[in-house]
Amino acid sequence: MRQDIVFLTGAGISSESGIPTFRGKDGLWNDERKVYLASSEALYNDTSEFLAFMNDMRQRVFDAAPNAAHAFIADLEKQHQVTVITQNIDDLHERAGSTNVIHLHGELARVCSSDNRHDARYIREMPMNVPIRLGDDAGDGSQLRSHVTLFGEYVSGMQDAAEIVKDADIFVVIGTSLTVHPAAELIRYAHPDVPKFIINPNEVDIASLGYKYILSTATEGVKTLQEELNHINR
Ligand code: NAD
Repeated sequence: MRQDIVFLTGAGISSESGIPTFRGKDGLWNDERKVYLASSEALYNDTSEFLAFMNDMRQRVFDAAPNAAHAFIADLEKQHQVTVITQNIDDLHERAGSTNVIHLHGELARVCSSDNRHDARYIREMPMNVPIRLGDDAGDGSQLRSHVTLFGEYVSGMQDAAEIVKDADIFVVIGTSLTVHPAAELIRYAHPDVPKFIINPNEVDIASLGYKYILSTATEGVKTLQEELNHINR
């Protein structure tokens, strides 16, 4: 039976592709300077260092490849209606073949104006192996920047994402610590009666919401998820 399957993914799904998560053992956020560099304050006050940090992440994503978990989700589109709501700023879901991806925190593959990142006239794709340079004009005279949500900036699109989660027949959360708000609140919108799964090698405390835990990495966990989906569709 064709189901409406919604995924909420975070940095953990891309960690087996070699992109570090923000928290955890090798997490980027263990370095306080990096936390600062991902803020709007750094964009305006330390622009050169900010751009170097963004360019480094863009190059890392460019060099990475989707893994079996991204591929599994893309493949599900053959049988189901699939929506991916991701906190990730990489493009590995798209490169794996997913066609319906919502980026809550923006995309490193895009650039925009520093004066107004939502102004569609200045949002465009830019290959991730091409560095953004100090002085690059976004088109409105402002510094060109990555089209991602920085600390201190507003997350848009939450209402639409919440509606999508509400309508899901099956909801799956992969590789997120659920500590970044407002994205983390999405788990509360899933219908109480639908099957809900969380794939993460480390426990995240949401047991009371009726989620079934698959305590493994993303690439291993999707194999268990496949068995669960077979069972649901039987
Ligand atoms: P997070 O770094 O806070 O948490 C990562 C989670 O992934 C942890 O719970 C960890 O246990 C789990 N994890 C680690 N390895 C895993 C694996 N192999 N398989 C499955 N899960 C694994 O990440 P977050 O919750 O997504 O929130 C952090 C913010 O960082 C997000 O806003 C996101 O935009 C951003 N971010 C994005 C990327 C990316 O685009 N790839 C990378 C780093 C951070």
